[in-house]
Amino acid sequence: MRVLVQKFGGTSVAGPSEREHVLRKVLAAREMGYAVVVVVSAMGRRGAPYVTDTLLELLREGKATPRETDLLLACGEIVSGVVLAAALRARGVAATFLTGPQAGLITDETHGEARIIRVEPRRLRQELEEGKVVVVAGFQGMSEKGEVTTLGRGGSDTTATALGVALQAEAVEIYTDVEGVKTADPRLEGTARTLERLTYNEVCQLAQEGARVIHPRAVEIAMQANLPLWIKNTFSDGPGTLVVNGAFEQTVMIKADRPVTGITQIAPLTQFILEVEGADQVRAFRALAAEGISLDFITVLPERVIFNVREENEAKTRATLAALGFRPQMRPKCAKVAAVGAGMTGRPGIMAAIMESLAAEGIAVLQSADSYTTIWCLVKEEEMPRAVTALHRRFCA
Ligand code: ADP
Ligand code: ASP
Ligand code: MG
Repeated sequence: MRVLVQKFGGTSVAGPSEREHVLRKVLAAREMGYAVVVVVSAMGRRGAPYVTDTLLELLREGKATPRETDLLLACGEIVSGVVLAAALRARGVAATFLTGPQAGLITDETHGEARIIRVEPRRLRQELEEGKVVVVAGFQGMSEKGEVTTLGRGGSDTTATALGVALQAEAVEIYTDVEGVKTADPRLEGTARTLERLTYNEVCQLAQEGARVIHPRAVEIAMQANLPLWIKNTFSDGPGTLVVNGAFEQTVMIKADRPVTGITQIAPLTQFILEVEGADQVRAFRALAAEGISLDFITVLPERVIFNVREENEAKTRATLAALGFRPQMRPKCAKVAAVGAGMTGRPGIMAAIMESLAAEGIAVLQSADSYTTIWCLVKEEEMPRAVTALHRRFCA
């Protein structure tokens, strides 16, 4: 049995006309002889009735437990999957729908951000062997205790690659509303180019730095099994982006000789500057960790620490530090812009080029950091689009 997993994001299944394109892709795969698993996201984007953000809004007025929140959120993908399975059946295709738990996705117990620990694909495989297209609700699984969990925002991608690995699929195709992985977010940078081939590592880095076209965990799972991964546009027949293994990496680097693969951004962040030393620094980090606040972009100097948190964690961070008697300086509405690329390793002059490009636009760098493959700059959020454009022009045009 040749298995293909196709995952369709929210915009791809938004309504009947969008679903037509989905049906076309599924039917084409069937015609090519594949046993097809279709993973779906909730229908539509922000504002649509059954989409994840709308379901979260419903809970604003009350206090749902993390367990109940996950039960509610799981409904979005269930609605979407049942509707798509029905549409397939109307086309004469034998189809069935399975929730994440029914498809055998076993996760840990971290509600809202659960990790898949195991897949038991027996039922799914059986349905495929009976010749059915199996539609699976993305973004959800079940803990060992039998609780429904969700996999974190954007987690339907993870469902797709986990099932791909479990079923030894020939490939996983992630269908979305853009042509593939691009050199920058096309919403910010109209001239961004689609990248034809990338390594798992490159895509993982881009995704971790904010290119939300694919979930980084989905890439990690595919990488572990060397599973070919495509990112394609539901609404076109473009070739998309193929993500392959590291053996190809050297070839890409030498051939392309391009230090930067792409430009990414994450916003809004709030920068905290805390004028404390030694043991007080340790106390601050311990207290923030105990509150489960994730820190980003951390700089420790003898006389101060600087770090950033997501805007939604700003109040909690301030309160936690205040409880210790600390009065941090805060800079809200910041953005982290990154130049990402395996090809920058060992190449001098990249930081100079970044500083030059940003300075030419009058953009101040509020903080910076680097690794072998990434240079991050913190800028004001209002300057982020111009920063992305300037760096894209310099490295990716
Ligand atoms: P889906 O609902 O299909 O999962 P997402 O909204 O999660 O779609 O991801 C697709 C979006 O990712 C695109 O519309 C695009 O704006 C955004 N994006 C951000 N960075 C990139 C990038 N480097 N390449 C392609 N798309 C990107
Ligand atoms: N519906 C979920 C979200 O909006 C999962 C997904 O679309 O991948 O995050
Ligand atoms: Mg997504």
